[in-house]
Amino acid sequence: MQLVDIGANLTHASFQADVAEVISRARQAGVAQIIVTGTTVAESQKALDFSKTSDFLFATAGVHPHHARDCGPDTIPQLRALAAHPKVVAIGECGLDFNRNYSPHPDQEKWFVAQAQLGLELGKPLFLHSRDAHPRFAEILKSLRVENAVAHCFTGEREEMKAYLDLGLYIGITGWICDERRGRHLLELVREIPRDRLLLETDAPYLTPRDLKPQPKARRNEPAFLPHILKAVARALGRPAEEIAAETTRNAETLFSLHESGSSAAAQRPLAA
Ligand SMILES: [Zn+2]
Repeated sequence: MQLVDIGANLTHASFQADVAEVISRARQAGVAQIIVTGTTVAESQKALDFSKTSDFLFATAGVHPHHARDCGPDTIPQLRALAAHPKVVAIGECGLDFNRNYSPHPDQEKWFVAQAQLGLELGKPLFLHSRDAHPRFAEILKSLRVENAVAHCFTGEREEMKAYLDLGLYIGITGWICDERRGRHLLELVREIPRDRLLLETDAPYLTPRDLKPQPKARRNEPAFLPHILKAVARALGRPAEEIAAETTRNAETLFSLHESGSSAAAQRPLAA
């Protein structure tokens, strides 16, 4: 089994002491590739630097809507420079968060649009965050004609998911689906995601699956728990986990062009004439 964790916040302080062990546990669990999420310019730089240490690590470059208020004239040029590296496989995470509202809505929209335009300019997919921002979020994507993107950590309702699928987006499923209080609806909804649009992610260190036994130390989630999420999805779909592993891995490789983005692959690739 070869899984891709499309979203892990491995630059988070909680991984500082033992990230090497975290990676090796993930590899042993069948997680073949991990995309390290960038949430600010500085964290995106860290994610890129870290991704350079292994062939199976990649990074995103973006600013989370929580941090939109800190963006300025340098933000997009800095993200553009980071994204020039082949290890940066997506722009994000970017989007709208009208749940926590850490940044004013106009700031969130301004920098979401700017990052979406950067993704379109560079031909890179978007790693999208949306929380309580439907339908505004989908309206913006539609107006910009964004279709190469994943709605990461989807936790919304049917209407919202349908809007994303209509735009051609991929849907990222986390351990939220294992939450018997908040995630039950996802057990139904996941059946409506086309096989070529489903992606899996841990969003580590957040969203530790609630039904994981025993619960990890300090309840820290990590990529090694991705097979647990896979199994929950497989049960919900009534299909073999191996099939879903193969499909979601293929989907991740397609959306993020992972075959072309590894440092070894890039080195072996013949130079264009
Ligand atoms: Zn997010």
